[in-house]
Amino acid sequence: MAKGYQGNKERLEEISSFGKTISKRAGFACEWCGSKDDLRVWDHNPDTSPAPETLALLCGQCREWAGGRKAAADELRSIRNALWSDIPAVAEGAAGVLAQCKEPWAREAIEESFIDDAVKVALLK
Ligand SMILES: [Zn+2]
Repeated sequence: MAKGYQGNKERLEEISSFGKTISKRAGFACEWCGSKDDLRVWDHNPDTSPAPETLALLCGQCREWAGGRKAAADELRSIRNALWSDIPAVAEGAAGVLAQCKEPWAREAIEESFIDDAVKVALLK
């Protein structure tokens, strides 16, 4: 258990070392919705070593959605444009949240986006 804690701590330090790069890339706004509230770096892929492609700067609300909180379909329209990002954590992360919403526009937006086909299939199954 102590080892897991240590690993987690190292990971958090590694992620925070990317903080400046990610914030600059994001223009100091949420990379999903553009909000400037409570911005923090979010870890899209905890199974790989943290890198700028697997991290996104997200606001408090988007981080809650990323963590599984249910969002109203209308609220999710604010993150639709994130699907067009060329950063996997931004585009695929947003697609993961949009896929929870069963509205046809959300599924169409994911289908039209340039995210990896294998990721799309897994999300839309
Ligand atoms: Zn946001």
